[in-house]
Amino acid sequence: MSTTESYPRPLKITIVGAGIGGLTAAAALRIEGHEIFETPSMNKEIGASITLADNALRVLNYLGFDIEHLKAGDYLGVAWFDSKGGEDWNLLVTKEEPVRAFEDFDAQFTALFALVDGPVHLWQIRSLLPLPTWINGRAALIGDAAHATFPTIGQGAAMSIEDGVTIACLLPLGTTREQIPGRLYTYQTLRKERGEFVVRESLEQVTIPSKRGLYSRSPEMQVFIVNHDAVRVARENLAVHVTI
Ligand SMILES: Cc1cc2nc3c(=O)[nH]c(=O)nc-3n(C[C@H](O)[C@H](O)[C@H](O)COP(=O)(O)OP(=O)(O)OC[C@H]3O[C@@H](n4cnc5c(N)ncnc54)[C@H](O)[C@@H]3O)c2cc1C
Repeated sequence: MSTTESYPRPLKITIVGAGIGGLTAAAALRIEGHEIFETPSMNKEIGASITLADNALRVLNYLGFDIEHLKAGDYLGVAWFDSKGGEDWNLLVTKEEPVRAFEDFDAQFTALFALVDGPVHLWQIRSLLPLPTWINGRAALIGDAAHATFPTIGQGAAMSIEDGVTIACLLPLGTTREQIPGRLYTYQTLRKERGEFVVRESLEQVTIPSKRGLYSRSPEMQVFIVNHDAVRVARENLAVHVTI
């Protein structure tokens, strides 16, 4: 065997729809040394702020982001979630519409609308029923495509970030094409139950009156969500259950 042949070969990986999950996967797969092809579609999105809990920040830290800088953001935004359906996923509406929708709220909350000086977008929020599978051969779904969720416990982006880094950690440099389906099966085993737990709880804590606000009252649930270390879990699983 020549010297060149003994080097592990990078995989060529295509990411379709590189949003939050896809960009996380791309960054983490590059750390592993793979060659990434992606469709960078984030430039079509309008600006929106999201909140990230420690389980997501832990991953961003692993990817080399400056977490303190991220935490220091001073963006003031208003999110308005309406239960009615609409025609468009992201509809421009007048400033008066949310004001009307919240007219019976206390003035300390409605006063926020006076601060709005940009366009107002009406976003549709939908939740995905559990899918039979997230994987097919050498392809896998990550993020909202696998487990789109209500924003109730603020974990949609975090779950996408956890998915993206999990896949990457399960495909270290040296992984062969033939090994990929097995690694994706492990990805699904590690991620599906957790992602669907977030979807189910986010929905039920809106639709079942006795569960409203449960996440903020349940230290156990918070620990389960926020203390998760996706990189560690993936690496431990790779070491214990998978033969590289
Ligand atoms: C208003 C709002 C506020 C939110 N706030 C929070 C929050 O505070 N905290 C939180 O954790 N989560 C929040 N979320 C949820 C979070 O944004 C999503 O869960 C997260 O973006 C999902 O990441 P993703 O990579 O799966 O999908 P996305 O980030 O949506 O990326 C998917 C990408 O795929 C592209 N795409 C779609 N179809 C195709 C196609 N056919 N071909 C190619 N590309 C395609 C899209 O343009 C997009 O860029 C919020 C969502 C909304 C709408």
